[in-house]
Amino acid sequence: MKRLSAIILAAALLLSFASCSSQQDTKSESADKAAKQTAETNRETIYQVALLQSITQGYYDGIIKVSELKEHGDIGIGTFEGVNGEMIVLDGTVYQALGDGSVQVAADDETVPFSNVTFFDSDVKEDIGNIKDINALKDALTKTVEKNGKNMFAFVKLSGEFSKMNVRSEIKQEKPYKSLDKALATDQREFNYDNVKGTVVALYCPDYMGGLNTPGWHFHFISDDKKKGGHILELAFDSAQVEYDITPEFDMCLTDNEDFQKMELSKDVSSAIKKVETNDD
Ligand SMILES: [Zn+2]
Repeated sequence: MKRLSAIILAAALLLSFASCSSQQDTKSESADKAAKQTAETNRETIYQVALLQSITQGYYDGIIKVSELKEHGDIGIGTFEGVNGEMIVLDGTVYQALGDGSVQVAADDETVPFSNVTFFDSDVKEDIGNIKDINALKDALTKTVEKNGKNMFAFVKLSGEFSKMNVRSEIKQEKPYKSLDKALATDQREFNYDNVKGTVVALYCPDYMGGLNTPGWHFHFISDDKKKGGHILELAFDSAQVEYDITPEFDMCLTDNEDFQKMELSKDVSSAIKKVETNDD
């Protein structure tokens, strides 16, 4: 678990064509097998589909299928082709929280333009309480992450009853796709729940991940009855159990799609990301 062998970018790019090439028909059976074995044997890897930067700039085409994503993890967050709702992966099931406020189990052949998943192993457990807002939650979780290594990734599973849960999802976009901030300006839908039981699935990315994702925290929610969910904008709770999976490896899956290859992905979109991830302007 504490073995620090981060497979960052260069190695991940090499791996990616073995592990996320559903749209390539030249893949051999043995490559297929090898990819599967890698996925099964490596529980200590954050698997990422594309970049938060590509989805922020409006690349919403699916890159891998839900069925393939599940080979890389049983917990996670993300979205679906056309940003058709928010993804919450919990205990191996991929949930799709749609723009109308409903939640469904995502079909295996639904495709994914952006996601992070891993296989969850509980490395650290704690109870936290008296959380008045999302910033207080970030502070509390960050304290524990820092104790265990702020330069590692962490997936967090936090369960409890939430006195306040404010989530958003969005209406499916059609081509030509707008950038995410423009799409959300008209097609974001917010839902406010009081006293709802459920689980927060959160990803922590280290500071240096600014070019590939967003540093810090990203929170999604799914209720215990699996009827409510989305990307968390605000929350509050009195007490909750938190489990952390501290994760030292990173693998990334890209696409050779022409539109994707034309994108300028080093462009600084951090303020656009902040705008779409939070309620702040
Ligand atoms: Zn989100």
